Amino acid sequence: MIITKTKEEIELMRKSALLVSKTLGMLAKEIKPGVTSLHLDKLADEYIRDHGGYPGFLGMYDFPNSLCISPNEQVVHGIPNDTPYEEGDIVSIDCGVYMNGFYGDHAYTFAVGEVSEEVAKLLEVTKKSLYLGIEQFKEGNRVGDVGYAIQKYCEDHGYGIVRELVGHGVGRDMHEDPEIPNYGRRGRGKKFKEGMVIAIEPMVNMGTRRILQLPDGWTILTADRKPSAHFEHNVALVDGKPELLSTFYYIYEALGIESNEEDAFRAKSLVL
Ligand code: MG
Ligand code: MG
Repeated sequence: MIITKTKEEIELMRKSALLVSKTLGMLAKEIKPGVTSLHLDKLADEYIRDHGGYPGFLGMYDFPNSLCISPNEQVVHGIPNDTPYEEGDIVSIDCGVYMNGFYGDHAYTFAVGEVSEEVAKLLEVTKKSLYLGIEQFKEGNRVGDVGYAIQKYCEDHGYGIVRELVGHGVGRDMHEDPEIPNYGRRGRGKKFKEGMVIAIEPMVNMGTRRILQLPDGWTILTADRKPSAHFEHNVALVDGKPELLSTFYYIYEALGIESNEEDAFRAKSLVL
């Protein structure tokens, strides 16, 4: 069942989403060679609690940590460990917050120092596909329109779209209906409705779309061990159009990056 949100509920969800966004911004400054994901996990856990939230992933389905951190060939659901990052690594960080009865949930794949041109392209294309998907989350469209836009763009670049893991509705539960696959057919699937809030999250592999799971029961990695990227936003359908509840603004501020990628989807009233 799809649970639409009132304007008031969407404002509360924006607060949860923005705490995730600020947590990722705080982490952006810390990511460099020699740093471990356990260190980042500890920083994020403290930051979220200090700002009135609870780490949304901690204990969910018995997940042991506050962040899912998935370097290089890991796709998602990586468990933080004490392996130091090296120059040229990429690190996908997925962060959840529970606050005021609602979840925020989004992700960004960071480069550790300088990455190869090939890997930089994977990050660029995956992130661009996220915004192409967001563009399709509008009145009159259906779930398949979002998936199609993401799949088409990424496959045109020769990348593999993970099928087994998908985006989702988000609200009082971290995972609500409907599922939002990163592949699909135009005009198919559930129809979008005013007040829906979803997490769109392309998981894109440089090589094969096939994945494996480590014996830890969590970590998903590419079958060919080539790198994988993951970007995620929380988006509400407001006045028939997609409105971002999350932002990468804090990441870009921390890294000194200029970007207008979110401008078309940002609430006019929002002051960051
Ligand atoms: Mg997520
Ligand atoms: Mg998600």
